[in-house]
Amino acid sequence: MLLKSILNRVQLHRGFVYGAVRWSESRGRRVLEIEIRARKGSRPTCSGCGRRASGYDVLSKRRFEFVPLWGIAVFFLYAMRRVACPRCGVKVERVPWAEGKNHLTTTYAWFLARWAKRLSWKEVGAVFQTSWDNVFRSVKMAVAWGLSHRNLENVTAIGIDEIAWKRGHKYLTLVYQIDAGCRRLLWVGQERTQKTLRQFFKDFGQERTARLTFICSDMWKPYLRIVAEVAGQALHVLDRFHIMTHVSKAIDQVRAKEAKELKAHGQQPVLTGSRWCLLKRPENLSETQTVKLKELLKLNLKTVRAYLLKEDLGRFWHYKTPGWAGRFLDDWCKRTMRSRLTPMKKVARMLRSHRGLLLNWFRAKGRVALGAVEGLNNKAKVTSRKAYGYRSFDVLKVALYHTLGDLPEPKVTHRFC
Ligand SMILES: [Zn+2]
Repeated sequence: MLLKSILNRVQLHRGFVYGAVRWSESRGRRVLEIEIRARKGSRPTCSGCGRRASGYDVLSKRRFEFVPLWGIAVFFLYAMRRVACPRCGVKVERVPWAEGKNHLTTTYAWFLARWAKRLSWKEVGAVFQTSWDNVFRSVKMAVAWGLSHRNLENVTAIGIDEIAWKRGHKYLTLVYQIDAGCRRLLWVGQERTQKTLRQFFKDFGQERTARLTFICSDMWKPYLRIVAEVAGQALHVLDRFHIMTHVSKAIDQVRAKEAKELKAHGQQPVLTGSRWCLLKRPENLSETQTVKLKELLKLNLKTVRAYLLKEDLGRFWHYKTPGWAGRFLDDWCKRTMRSRLTPMKKVARMLRSHRGLLLNWFRAKGRVALGAVEGLNNKAKVTSRKAYGYRSFDVLKVALYHTLGDLPEPKVTHRFC
């Protein structure tokens, strides 16, 4: 079977025919070149307005990289025509296999972008002997296409989240859809200010915002303020995952301070290496960590008291009704305020002042995927960490949409990967 007949089956372009296939060389390696010719009598399409017009002249041949075959790079070779368009003047024609000045065929760009979901961009470049830039540009194209073709009409529940980047010096605001059955990244913005979130709602649109019934977020003031102002009709739920993060941070502060004090008094360094025993969920501890935790719990330490308060707060989320949950919360806060652990008292005060929003959790339970934010947050963190190359916001944004956006792809006759 000739290569041409395979191509005609997987990638047929109306108005064009495949010609000779031959060996050639590119940057010191053997490559395949496939000629493309315009079908006789066909008229070129103007790249300005997309309408057909008569030909003006023919430019010299250009190469377009296609999906490699058996590890051999493949190029289309085509002499672009220029059209004499009555509306746009003399313009280069539009061809169906590549966009604008891109030297990668659209099929190859989608091929790279799809691999970039499974491997790091660097790995994709290495495997297919192409540059990081080509992979990035392909992903960017896929994201742009996906964003302009996605459907946002079914969004009724969103989660607002932030992640740190640039070694924790900067924050990004991420908005997810958390409807049961549809969880994805909807939006990425710089910083975590009122202005950031206001921009999301502006981009999202008034009508869609009015359709929101659940919004899940952290206790971060700028978020709370904007949600109340812009989407007051939605049930605002404070996210369990973010609240437990605050508690973990408080334990960490208690532990660090106590470890220092113990050291200053020349006592046994019992707290050394205890950090993860205290922060991880008990069921996720290793065997050594479990033993270490058991030993720790026997000691009369501030850190231990803080830990027990955290474990106790975990019960809060298991209540069925807001009434009982509220009673538990009040009791927990009262006990914590008497604990003489400053960081923990700070948490208790924070929870008290957000009592109403916290209890909304029980009103939303079962109606929305409340745990979704944590999972998406972990994925977002991995994506931003994996990326040494994502120093700029724009690159990180593209990477996040690509991995978390669940973006649509165009329908094609043949999938190359
Ligand atoms: Zn035109």
